[in-house]
Amino acid sequence: SQKVKDAVHIPRYARVNTHKTTMEKAIKAFEKEGYTYIDTPDDLRTLEPKTFCRDLHLNDLLVMSPKTDLHIHPLYVSGQIILQDKASCFPAHVCQATPGAHAIDACAAPGNKTSHLSALMKNTGQIWAFDLDSRRLDLLKRLTTKAGCKNITPVHGSFLETDPKDPKFANVEYLLLDPSCSGSGIISRLDHLVDDEDEQEDNEAAEQSREDRLTNLSEFQTSIIQHALKFPKAKRVVYSTCSIHAQENERVVKEVLESNPEFELASRDTVLPTWERRGIPEEMDGNTGRADAVVRTIPAEDLTNGFFVACFVRKSGEKRALE
Ligand code: SAM
Repeated sequence: SQKVKDAVHIPRYARVNTHKTTMEKAIKAFEKEGYTYIDTPDDLRTLEPKTFCRDLHLNDLLVMSPKTDLHIHPLYVSGQIILQDKASCFPAHVCQATPGAHAIDACAAPGNKTSHLSALMKNTGQIWAFDLDSRRLDLLKRLTTKAGCKNITPVHGSFLETDPKDPKFANVEYLLLDPSCSGSGIISRLDHLVDDEDEQEDNEAAEQSREDRLTNLSEFQTSIIQHALKFPKAKRVVYSTCSIHAQENERVVKEVLESNPEFELASRDTVLPTWERRGIPEEMDGNTGRADAVVRTIPAEDLTNGFFVACFVRKSGEKRALE
């Protein structure tokens, strides 16, 4: 199928887990094994086997030739690198949670974004990681332990049932929201254990018509964001999907902004400013610049899965007063 062909041409991305190693050490370890580090590759699509480089946009990501299999590699087995698609590394970077902060990962399992957030917070502060599915949450526990995370509190249950006014969440400033979606952007599912489980979700939902399904998903996604914005100290709330449908992306964001006047989108300069592909303006109030504040990736063409990221921030008191 086309998806399988596309998957073959997507580079193999390896996120360097800074809980266990550094970028420099990881590069040296690969070089020692006979891999060649390339400073400025011509075309990532044609990276030769056993060559690798650093990612252009994300400072903790290595890019390897598409056919590289690292599943039994010692750096992977020991948790020093994490095999994660480039686009799925976007949300934790956009979140910008500071060391010592309190954060929530609302739909966390199997936990790749949670462990990334944990690394960027330097294993300090606290991250509550919610998931409705106990089996998936067990996987999160295993994977985040393997990754050396010490600042994660897994919680089995619905994020929608949590009380934003609970005193234990009084200092939560950062929320990562990666709710279930249609998965329509996923192409590199070939070798990823986690994605098999997403596929099961897909099969169950396939009984509904496509439109009904997207409507249900977008209502759920909207409710997850609405709930997150109720946390009293919420400062940066990052929403992501691996869907290519505007109905789950720009339109969800637009609806949330309309009903939450105290929030706005974080400006482009704090949301992967060097990533060129932004939201679809026609799906988001035309030329207001809002579409520029969100990020999209096109499957295969951008050498990633299809993905969408938006970041809500609380408006300043002054701005609110002026409105
Ligand atoms: N963020 C994860 C990662 O990067 O590894 C992937 C999350 S996956 C797209 C969506 C997850 O949301 C699923 O594990 C699903 O069980 C969970 N979920 C669905 N509804 C939920 C709810 N109401 N509260 C918490 N988790 C929920």
